[in-house]
Amino acid sequence: SQLPGIDDDDDIFPSLPPLLDGHPDIHLRNGIMNASVLAAKHDPDAEKAFFVGDLSQVYRQHLRWQACLPDIRPFYAVKCNPDPYVLRLLAALGAGFDCASNGEISQVLALGVDPSRVIYANPCKATSFVREAGRVGVDMMTFDNADELHKIARAHPNAQLVVRILTDDTKSLCALGVKFGAPLATVPGLLAKAKELNLNVVGVSFHVGSGCYDPSVLLDVGGGFEDALFEQTAANLTEAIAFYFPDRSGFKIIAEPGRFYVATAFRLAANIIARRAPLTEAHRDDAPPSDKPSVMYYINDGVYGAFNCILFDHQTARPYVLSMADSFHIADSEPLTISSVWGPTCDSIDCVCLATPLPSALRVGDWLGFDNMGAYTSCAASQFNVFEVSKVVYTTGGGFGASEVRSALARFAAEGHGL
Ligand code: PLP
Repeated sequence: SQLPGIDDDDDIFPSLPPLLDGHPDIHLRNGIMNASVLAAKHDPDAEKAFFVGDLSQVYRQHLRWQACLPDIRPFYAVKCNPDPYVLRLLAALGAGFDCASNGEISQVLALGVDPSRVIYANPCKATSFVREAGRVGVDMMTFDNADELHKIARAHPNAQLVVRILTDDTKSLCALGVKFGAPLATVPGLLAKAKELNLNVVGVSFHVGSGCYDPSVLLDVGGGFEDALFEQTAANLTEAIAFYFPDRSGFKIIAEPGRFYVATAFRLAANIIARRAPLTEAHRDDAPPSDKPSVMYYINDGVYGAFNCILFDHQTARPYVLSMADSFHIADSEPLTISSVWGPTCDSIDCVCLATPLPSALRVGDWLGFDNMGAYTSCAASQFNVFEVSKVVYTTGGGFGASEVRSALARFAAEGHGL
């Protein structure tokens, strides 16, 4: 059951992009074992950090979405993780796409996705970007200010507009209201301006959990769906929609989920490239206080790379040991030491974890693992100090959904879609 262009080779070192069967854990292990073979050959690839992306997990999240929110069409927020296989799979499953730039639009359209499946959900766009969206047939776009309406009237007068309104986002990780969203009081003026400019406003967008107004055709409930709270959020949303819009005939509801689809589908394996004692403690005679790190580990991905999610997405990294001294058997009795974990760059802000318990026997060459690394990680990684962005090894997972993922991707490719 080989897919066109996809190698079923068992050699999964990240320089190869195969799509493999098997549990993500196995791929982490195989990647590390491969790395140790390469290390023996002094291959510089041996130590590279790598992601394992489990496409079946993306598929399972899609099933969860369909089960809990059958009437809301997901437009996957590409910004969250524009991974080519994730995009392909979601396109094959019939999702729409929330794009924030022309680059994202190009990436999605290159898959053969119809432009009607794209919403340009960035309320402040350059005029040239609006014009380009019109040229490629992307009509649906958000706005929250009058200048945007003037731009759109000039550059894409046939656009289908969605007014993004400001809502209470104080309980969100990233409060976007400081940057986007029209206060409700300004909306009538904006709608009047749109009418004056002969523009077509088709809907309203807002964030989950708030809002009470009267859309004519389209309601966009945005993103922000958290994995652990998903069922509860979906139930609240369903209840609110039923309450505020008892008659929904003739109007579509869409959402822009990002992290929900990908956060749990990616893990990262990073190699310990250096180790040292904290400076302050090294210069003290007494033992370090027990709650302060007594060892510093340096790994080969950091906040300028995949862990930019710590700075930009307010995440906390929780490392665990993947392999120690070439062994995957880490005894429960292994003594733990409070440790700090640092990225590879020369900047001291590059701290992945300030204090976390790790086995005291960890050495240079051992591997740490990090779960939930699929959202807002490599997409926002820089190459500061010219460190490479960690590559992805793909798996269809060992659990439910593997064969569905393979056949969805194969069907998609057979229809002539692809990258
Ligand atoms: N839609 C818009 C307009 C956004 O700005 C974002 C995130 O920044 C999303 C959707 C996706 O949010 P999340 O990944 O939390 O679902």
